[in-house]
Amino acid sequence: MKVQLKDITMRFENMTAVDRLNVTIEEGTLVSLLGPSGCGKSTTLFMLAGLYQPTEGELYFGDRIVNKIEPENREIGMVFQNYALYPHLTVLKNIMFPLKMAKIPKKEAEERAREMAALVQINHLLDRKPSQLSGGQQQRVAIARALVKKPKLLLLDEPLSNLDARLRLEMREEIRRIQQEVGITTIFVTHDQEEAMSISDKILLMQDGKKQQFSPPQDMYDYPENHFVAQFLGNPPINRLSVKLGEDLQTIVLPDTEDSLHLGAPLKSNGEVNMHYELGVRPEDFYIEPDLAKAGFTVETIMVERIGRDNLLYARLGQTNLRAIVSPDVKVNRGDMVKLAIRPGRTHLFDLSNGKNLL
Ligand code: ATP
Repeated sequence: MKVQLKDITMRFENMTAVDRLNVTIEEGTLVSLLGPSGCGKSTTLFMLAGLYQPTEGELYFGDRIVNKIEPENREIGMVFQNYALYPHLTVLKNIMFPLKMAKIPKKEAEERAREMAALVQINHLLDRKPSQLSGGQQQRVAIARALVKKPKLLLLDEPLSNLDARLRLEMREEIRRIQQEVGITTIFVTHDQEEAMSISDKILLMQDGKKQQFSPPQDMYDYPENHFVAQFLGNPPINRLSVKLGEDLQTIVLPDTEDSLHLGAPLKSNGEVNMHYELGVRPEDFYIEPDLAKAGFTVETIMVERIGRDNLLYARLGQTNLRAIVSPDVKVNRGDMVKLAIRPGRTHLFDLSNGKNLL
């Protein structure tokens, strides 16, 4: 089912938790709601679930406005952080529970519950009680229970946050597999960027109740529309340099040097000559340029750290600290001056007065 939020706003007394959100979630896709604590993720999910009614705007499920529809009539399945399984019921009875409430005959209910158990791969656990299951297994039961009524929308509220690192990885792959097998439109709340990057068709990144960007994960990472998006995604984070725009609007002057760099692409909106902007470069978009005749700028090496396959170079350009992921084949040591260059098309230039990316 396609889901549309049109100018959705949620106010609590004098604070606006969600501010004029406009988003269309296509049928069968998985969308993550991502953002820092308090940005409005849960409030958005609760509006979709029908636990909150938006103060303003329209919420569409398919062609139907559902603002006033009760949660039980929305054809949604929900999984919470703490799974909320019934401790006194077996796994099978837990999964059957929503069907029992809907007065589905017992035989049919059991068949459907077993089908779901097979989907989430817990057929061998049906007689156990929740306390006899691991966190990941409990999560599978919660997912089976959420899907057993064949809802049209699945809502997941930080479903992996109670699991250890290894299980989190396993369960996020499982959630993606199950979602794709069922083909159900799914909305997944998380504050973990890596989780959102790996699992989603699209990410809705929010801050202060407002949409910052709604894009496929890789687009969001490669083409951040604003400064917040650029610095929120990425680990190590994007490098930030305070630069000045040159006379031709095509070059920038780097901090504490007379070095200038050609931007390599026209600005999307008007820039002002001599104004200060912030240059953003992801650590992996730098490389060491051995040819001194080629474009680049000279930095002083502070430290080199081995991180798996690559090296992480800590460097300084005047007052600015930089991090670059570089090949371990190039030998650099503390104190060495090296020439860094930026991969073509990987430069971002932010106007800090409004946060916009000008490139
Ligand atoms: P977290 O990642 O910490 O769960 P979140 O992104 O889910 O955060 P929300 O829980 O949606 O954020 O909260 C958004 C804002 O709305 C916060 O400032 C919060 O304090 C406020 N808020 C949420 N629910 C209520 C409520 N029932 N009454 C008043 N304010 C609320």
